[in-house]
Amino acid sequence: MPYSDIQERIARAADSAGRSLQSIHLIAVSKVQPIERVKSVLDAGHRLFGENRVQEASDKWPDLRTQYPETEIHLIGPLQTNKVKPALALFSAIHSLDRPKLARKIAAETQTRGTCPDLLVQVNTGEEPQKAGILPHDADAFIAECRQMDLPLSGLMVIPPVSEEPALHFALLAKIAERNGLGGLSMGMSADFETAIALGATHIRVGSAIFGERVPISSE
Ligand SMILES: *Cc1c(COP(=O)(O)O)cnc(C)c1O
Repeated sequence: MPYSDIQERIARAADSAGRSLQSIHLIAVSKVQPIERVKSVLDAGHRLFGENRVQEASDKWPDLRTQYPETEIHLIGPLQTNKVKPALALFSAIHSLDRPKLARKIAAETQTRGTCPDLLVQVNTGEEPQKAGILPHDADAFIAECRQMDLPLSGLMVIPPVSEEPALHFALLAKIAERNGLGGLSMGMSADFETAIALGATHIRVGSAIFGERVPISSE
């Protein structure tokens, strides 16, 4: 589906939700996509992209960013503590803060750097054992802990269980964000971004609907 069609669908969803388009940021998820597809979206004027691996993003974006200045990259996948340093240098937001050890490492690194990307706490609303994210009943305490470390928290992120109604998970995320005074909601992917917009998403992460199916380069 062309990029312009996605923009139109976002505009329609914003309109029916009575929301301003400026309050909704489209993150074009470029992981594993051929570079020509990524460039065609850059050529269309888009400047916000998402990657789920630090290494892949480090290989791809420094070059692309010299060709397309002012492009922002967000990390939407899991972050290992040994990759915090390159991650802080590359990304303008990290959507996968999900454990105290990672928070402490980011805080320590930020002391040396002086700046820190926007951070979103990933919440495992489906309580799936294999999935990253803080459990809903631990979220408030974890958010408080991050704030004590002076980390710049801007919101929450969720990846709902594949077999469940995403709206329930989006609504739960919005509720946790609201009671913690957090404005950012990173939720909604290719299959459900319109639902996410209706429930308050500020960042939707759309990959295959923009770029086409991903051609896997390695096993996930
Ligand atoms: C890959 C990925 C997406 C994009 O998924 P699509 O279904 O292709 O839109 C969104 N969020 C995360 C965390 C991802 O890893």
